[in-house]
Amino acid sequence: MVMSFQFPAYFIAIFIITRVMSIMKISKPLDVHHKDIRAVDLATKLSVDPSAIESASRDFGGIVKAEPEAVLHPSAPQDIAALIKFSYSNSVPFGIAAKGHGHSVRGQAMAENGVVVDMRSMANKRRNGTGIRVSIDRLYADVGGEQLWIDVLNATLEYGLAPVSWTDYLYLTVGGTLSNAGISGQTFRYGPQISNVLEMDVITGKADFLTCSPKMNSELFYAVLGGLGQFGIITRARIPLQRAPQRVKWVRLLYDDFSSFTKDQELLISKNGRKDNSALDFLEGSLLMDQGSPDNWRSSFFPHKDHPKIISLITKHGVIYCLEIVKHYDDRTKHTVDKEMKQVLQGLNYMPGFTFGKDVGYEEFLNRVRSGELKLKSQGLWDVPHPWLNLFIPKSQISDFNNGVFRGIVLERNITTGPVLVYPMNRQKWDARMSAVIPDEEIFYTVGFLHSSGFDTWEAFEDQNKDIMRFCNKTGIMVKQYLPHYSTKEEWVHHFGSKWKVFQFRKYQFDPRMLLSPGQRIFNNN
Ligand code: FAD
Repeated sequence: MVMSFQFPAYFIAIFIITRVMSIMKISKPLDVHHKDIRAVDLATKLSVDPSAIESASRDFGGIVKAEPEAVLHPSAPQDIAALIKFSYSNSVPFGIAAKGHGHSVRGQAMAENGVVVDMRSMANKRRNGTGIRVSIDRLYADVGGEQLWIDVLNATLEYGLAPVSWTDYLYLTVGGTLSNAGISGQTFRYGPQISNVLEMDVITGKADFLTCSPKMNSELFYAVLGGLGQFGIITRARIPLQRAPQRVKWVRLLYDDFSSFTKDQELLISKNGRKDNSALDFLEGSLLMDQGSPDNWRSSFFPHKDHPKIISLITKHGVIYCLEIVKHYDDRTKHTVDKEMKQVLQGLNYMPGFTFGKDVGYEEFLNRVRSGELKLKSQGLWDVPHPWLNLFIPKSQISDFNNGVFRGIVLERNITTGPVLVYPMNRQKWDARMSAVIPDEEIFYTVGFLHSSGFDTWEAFEDQNKDIMRFCNKTGIMVKQYLPHYSTKEEWVHHFGSKWKVFQFRKYQFDPRMLLSPGQRIFNNN
């Protein structure tokens, strides 16, 4: 059969295939003349352009650098399946990493000497429209794995609907957050984003293109959710929707006492029924430390006139704690929401005189981190190293963590720049069959040190992160990393704990040649 390619495209394809194959030291030639039109098609979407390689070697963390041999710009899931099939059936397979928006901080979406799949290139190339299809009758959205959550929000809001579980920042991809968990202030009530998926299309490490759900290919479904990209590439997820609220009442309360702060947080998350209208819609918390301003890049919330009194409080105590809560409302509830919020605040032990409130649109609230991002970008401060550390700590040990880490290591080192988040969630909202790893206790806290550093100062933050992990190990705090990164197999086995055997078994089942997401360094560390 004669191929239907234009002459130049054909030669470019052959050139790229040959080049990639030779760079990857793949010996078996492809039969591009006859059968493998898909392979030639694939080759036209593979780039070895230095700027594409450079971009695929970096991530938001700015710490790890790993060069792939090529970058695939797929226009359809079939392109990804063809690439995986090519590697899977080759005598010398190469690693393949889906890259969402590259917001990992430790090279998790990189593939050294392999191929990075730039998922975002599918966003505008999909046939049948945008990659986000909303079913208003059945209250779900079918969303491409490459889509950003901000686009999911905008597309669903057009119908007055929205997903229920979010991340703080919306310029993350659906496939990227579902590979981790996707947590924010809604998690205590609705569970993480991985608890809010009805079904997915996934291309496994054997190039099988499968639909999975709790009823269909359920092992793959649970493996992929929180699976760190190890079992397959998510090309579609079906996300349940609810009627979207119009506006939110957004309140921050300050505490000088950690025990009152956590007691109030735990009290507030104890009301967590999905349908319980008296439950809060969002709860987070953070530390305020001596950084010049009580605001940080992620949010400017406190009225300017109140900055001096907050700063003097911080100076007095070293660290103070900020509880952040939200109640949604719309036309039907606008007359009662203030009363309800007042009732919520009654009986809480925050510092009198340190309550701050805002009333903003729902979308503005969900997209609250964006303005900080744009400001940093305009100052050239977005693309700096981010030596982040994200942890889950059991409730019973959060007070020890406060004493040893917040009031110990962090105050002593006095280098923390960037937000430090601390808020609880309920284990019952997570599904133990999923790959995500959380502590054993019913309530556990997430703690996020979201550092920004200079290009030559990130190691000081890394030292602090190591100190924190050492402290936890020494004092027996049963910490689990969120967005985990380890370099040895032993550490990964310890991280997964009782889930390791299942995780490993699933890897053999769905990606036996260990092709996928090698940047996580779980199965391919030496
Ligand atoms: P990438 O970093 O590109 O990929 C992450 C991992 O998933 C990689 O291993 C990759 O190979 C794999 N992957 C990517 N796409 C797919 C796919 N389609 N199928 C299978 N595997 C895939 N997280 C939270 O939970 N809550 C937050 O509030 C939050 N806020 C953040 C704020 C900022 C500013 C940043 C930078 C990150 C934040 N994160 C948060 C972390 C975020 O969830 C992770 O960085 C995650 O990796 C998503 O980023 P991404 O879409 O760019 O994925």
